[in-house]
Amino acid sequence: MIDLSNLSREDEAARERLNARSAGMISQTRNWASINTGSLNVEGLRKLAPMLADAFSELDAEVRLEPGDPFESVNAAGETEATETSAVIRVSSRPNAPVQVVMSGHYDTVFPPGTFDTIRDLGDGRLNGPGLADMKGGLCIMREALLAFEAGPLKDKLGYQIVMTPDEEIGNFASSRALTEAARSGAHIGMTYEPCMDTGAMAGGRKGSAVFDIVLHGRAAHAGRAKEEGRSAIEAAAELVLGLEGLNGQRDGVTINVGAIDGGGPVNIVPQLAIVRFGARAPDAEAAQWAKDEIERLFARATARDGIHGHFHGGFYRPPKPRNAAQQALFEAVAATGKALGLSLVFEDTGGVCEGNNIFAAGVPNVDTLGVMGGRIHSNEEYVVTDSFAERATLSALLLNRLADGRINGAGIKALMDR
Ligand SMILES: [Zn+2]
Repeated sequence: MIDLSNLSREDEAARERLNARSAGMISQTRNWASINTGSLNVEGLRKLAPMLADAFSELDAEVRLEPGDPFESVNAAGETEATETSAVIRVSSRPNAPVQVVMSGHYDTVFPPGTFDTIRDLGDGRLNGPGLADMKGGLCIMREALLAFEAGPLKDKLGYQIVMTPDEEIGNFASSRALTEAARSGAHIGMTYEPCMDTGAMAGGRKGSAVFDIVLHGRAAHAGRAKEEGRSAIEAAAELVLGLEGLNGQRDGVTINVGAIDGGGPVNIVPQLAIVRFGARAPDAEAAQWAKDEIERLFARATARDGIHGHFHGGFYRPPKPRNAAQQALFEAVAATGKALGLSLVFEDTGGVCEGNNIFAAGVPNVDTLGVMGGRIHSNEEYVVTDSFAERATLSALLLNRLADGRINGAGIKALMDR
């Protein structure tokens, strides 16, 4: 086992450079966060995309903007519609180098325009603002780590594919193909820049996440004159919802949550439409399959009711990312590298999901909370810890150095995926 506790000359150089870049990183992140990029604010996303492309053009890499895939959603009338968003930003460098890394991050936020626009200095080493931690700060330190790595002598040994997505917060439906493609193009290790927790802890195992929309059609009728001719979609939906919620507690780690029921109308009409919208989480592939089978069974029961038919949309768009041997080996290498910087990094399992799930599903072990340190994300109290920019950028730069010179064996870690 190679000793990871010492800093090499290249490690020292990267640390020095990144410490000096701290203020620059923070101002760049503030700049990016001042543009609203709520997931559905296509105009804002299309404004930031070329700015990001420009910034990443300083790398020794090729940058291109690719249209995202149109994706379908079920509207309030129960019909599927195609939705379009902004570009997927692809950055590609040295695809023939012996070590290959896939990196990812998103440039959308959960905040629609007008909901959270100001950046405030909280005066205690924290900044409050939309997307500072989740994850414009992450994109910033990804780039800085790569610039620091490329300034050193190991550059030719490592190539990378970066995917920056406009739709992570709504499920990566427009960009999952690009993520999978980049991960499958020979990557040994994945690095994603979600914020780490405010304790400094990083994400370990992650559950898988599914979203479903079940559309049920009945038959409308006058509720007074001909109730018996009607078939209530809401009654069928009600039974379905009880069945779905009844799955909770039946299998370890599997949860189902019905978030909304749409449909129906005036009380004098038997309702002919109901849409049941729900999410599911599962800790591993077998549990996800169990959940899918149970949901399909309940759907079949609902549509077996007299006069009811329906359709079914959705699935596990983020497959589970359990701690397997490869993940464990990678976490150990990251923790040892952190230790060389005086950090004690721990990995905690979480029910939350991110692009790391998709990269894992494409067969690439990855660490997905390499971003800045932050808290209260997805709320107007979101904050970022300013000292963490240099700290976490340095962690990434060291990981790149170590993957490039073999102190961390990327191919060896990836080979553990199949065990
Ligand atoms: Zn995020």
